[in-house]
Amino acid sequence: MISTRTAASLTSMTWDAVIIGAGPAGSAIAAQLKRSLKRVLLVDRRTLPFHKLCGCCLSPQATTELDTLGVDLSSGGRPPDQLTRCTFRSSGIALQLNLSQMAVISRERLDAQLIEHAMNCDVDFQGSTTIKKVEWDQNTKLRLLHAELLPSHRGDPVTIRSHAVVDASGLPSTPRAKAAQRFFAPRIGLGAVLRDDQFPLERGHLKMLIAPGGYCGLVRLENNCIDIAAALDVSSMHGRPPWQGVDAIFKHNSCDPPVGLPRATFIGKPALTRRSTLYDQRCYRVGDAAGYVEPLTGEGIGWALRGARELAAAFEQVDPKQPDATQQIGRRYSRGYWAALQRDFRRCRLLTLAVRNRHLWNLTMKASRHAPALIHRIFPQATLHTDSHEDQDASPRQKVEEL
Ligand SMILES: Cc1cc2nc3c(=O)[nH]c(=O)nc-3n(C[C@H](O)[C@H](O)[C@H](O)COP(=O)(O)OP(=O)(O)OC[C@H]3O[C@@H](n4cnc5c(N)ncnc54)[C@H](O)[C@@H]3O)c2cc1C
Repeated sequence: MISTRTAASLTSMTWDAVIIGAGPAGSAIAAQLKRSLKRVLLVDRRTLPFHKLCGCCLSPQATTELDTLGVDLSSGGRPPDQLTRCTFRSSGIALQLNLSQMAVISRERLDAQLIEHAMNCDVDFQGSTTIKKVEWDQNTKLRLLHAELLPSHRGDPVTIRSHAVVDASGLPSTPRAKAAQRFFAPRIGLGAVLRDDQFPLERGHLKMLIAPGGYCGLVRLENNCIDIAAALDVSSMHGRPPWQGVDAIFKHNSCDPPVGLPRATFIGKPALTRRSTLYDQRCYRVGDAAGYVEPLTGEGIGWALRGARELAAAFEQVDPKQPDATQQIGRRYSRGYWAALQRDFRRCRLLTLAVRNRHLWNLTMKASRHAPALIHRIFPQATLHTDSHEDQDASPRQKVEEL
């Protein structure tokens, strides 16, 4: 499932659509575009398996979208673990929630299965290929993608021609996206996967540790490794190494981190809360490339898949030969996208503001105990666990699992 094409075969034809990035948004839109377009190319700068910064939780929306797409995560006889429990912990207060219709799956496995699905739908997949620049050629009315193939694939820079381009390249580090947090600087992402069999975290349990400078989520993956995914204020890093930023969140909550944290390989992401224009003359944008709100509620994969469905629907409704097809598809896509996701973005953004204020957050957690309906409004997939209790003492490592 690695790169299948030589540089010459990539450039010898004009594609109907090229998708940049084989994450959930890219693979999903590629598979769906294949229903109405003939030649669809999906490219990614990496070579499988991808390891990504992610909390690895599948929201009910993500599961529904995967079902609609026809992706069976149980294939191979190993369904993802169900996520049944979540503990929020902040300044000595613990809130336990029951979760329903949520699952955990490593990103290596999820992304690989989505690429495989796209390839089964006859999408051409090309790994190890970085798109450096996209241009609109007024003369030929084509999009030109300037690409670089990894040296291992013996490729010089190439130019790929396509009628349409979809940017599904994830969170941008370029200035094309605006940080969309007006009141606070957006947080950055940091994460690692590490092995600690003794760490008290059972499968199906999500732990969220909240601290003044950020928060981090922990789950155990199918290979028994622990996935750590954190969102942190840049200012809280003070030039220290990534592990110390994450360690500070554990310390604030009087928890020991998994052993090996200082030696773990961390992946970072730029400012998390972002928004870009959904389309312009050069390309349409889906998934995180279109916009993202901090990962507190673990819904990004579902949003990415839903956005891809809306774009595919817009493509199916417009004849691509019409002179203003880009505008027509773009407008339909924008309408569908905002109708489907605006409420979720707003709810999530409010929460990310609340979590930055310790008193407000603690008040929310306390109030939730007495008004379980509040929990449901914040996390539609959660209900209050009846044994939820206040945790006053600084809990040692062996007690963490009791929370
Ligand atoms: C700390 C953290 C925790 C999170 N936890 C969760 C969670 O628990 N649940 C959840 O649902 N979501 C979570 N998310 C969000 C989720 O990871 C994203 O929303 C989701 O991955 C978006 O998918 P995507 O396809 O848009 O982008 P991505 O998955 O980022 O895929 C983009 C792809 O594009 C490729 N690419 C980039 N640039 C180029 C280029 N120039 N040329 C070719 N290829 C390129 C990359 O290699 C990558 O494979 C979390 C995010 C963070 C930061």
